[in-house]
Amino acid sequence: MTAKPNILVIGTGGTIAGQGKAAVNTSAYLCSVLGIDEILDTLPQASALANLRSEQLLQTGSENFNNEHLLAIGKRVAEVLAQQDVDGVVITHGTDTIEETAYFLHLTLKSAKPVVVVGSMRPPSAMSSDASLNLYDAIAVAAHPSSHGIGTLVVANSEIHTARDVVKSNSFKLDAFRSPYGALGWVIEGVPHYYRRPARAHTLDTPWFPERLSRLPKVEIVYGYGSLETVAVEAIAANAHGLIFAGTGNGNIASHLLKPLRDAARHGVNVVRASRTGNGIVLRNGAQPDDEYGWLTVDDQIPQKARLLLMLALTQDADTNALQAVFTRY
Ligand code: GLU
Repeated sequence: MTAKPNILVIGTGGTIAGQGKAAVNTSAYLCSVLGIDEILDTLPQASALANLRSEQLLQTGSENFNNEHLLAIGKRVAEVLAQQDVDGVVITHGTDTIEETAYFLHLTLKSAKPVVVVGSMRPPSAMSSDASLNLYDAIAVAAHPSSHGIGTLVVANSEIHTARDVVKSNSFKLDAFRSPYGALGWVIEGVPHYYRRPARAHTLDTPWFPERLSRLPKVEIVYGYGSLETVAVEAIAANAHGLIFAGTGNGNIASHLLKPLRDAARHGVNVVRASRTGNGIVLRNGAQPDDEYGWLTVDDQIPQKARLLLMLALTQDADTNALQAVFTRY
């Protein structure tokens, strides 16, 4: 019999650390109140899967996470993954922005060891809470050899998602996490079952390291609609290195907003056309003449993931062609 792997569970808060007044409170409760040790104490079954250690890195709702939080999580996870006595990491996290932290780690960590980000839609105190099973499944995934070398994963509702694709797509249901091309696999009774692997470059195949990043460039997201005022776009563009425009449909832009966005690009802001549909490809030079306007386009990245990718790309000397290329490589 082989020795159990050593898994570090890092707590950062969220609903998985939440508490409601009554079992019926599936949506109204305090989040980020239980410490990671308290959470693990309620899950003795997990010690059959791995030798567990824990640490509390943060204790806050993930809607508060900014670039500094991402860097702090990235640096700490990079540090522990470098330790020989750590075989994998599980991060408990609010679900609101779980897809962003997970994608940041997926793009920056330099390790093949499994890293799993997990949350829950209902607090442990609620009826039919998903907290303990999601955490048990996350530990099972992090402890399993088949999870090596496939980047950062998000585990929820018995599914294993790649951080690149997963998105929270519902505000309250247990079945909230979606990947446009499907999950990588499932977890059942503590055993992961994989059916596909990530196709795009990640972790060891990227030029970014959390420990080498001291700050991230300012990239904003603007959500497009027909009455969006020019002054709003101008004000945001005036103070940004990059601007992801979540346009309608195929990244389309209302006629009156073309000027402020073209002006922004002339002044050195990296303007990226994305789509507010949440799905699909934005075709370069399709809805707008991007070459002529000096704009970039996402491939299939949703705006919040495009923001992370552009921030990382802007930490390096990159011309327009190199910036455009990151959207098809990662
Ligand atoms: N808004 C809180 C957060 O993102 C709770 C949501 C959740 O964890 O499901 O941390």
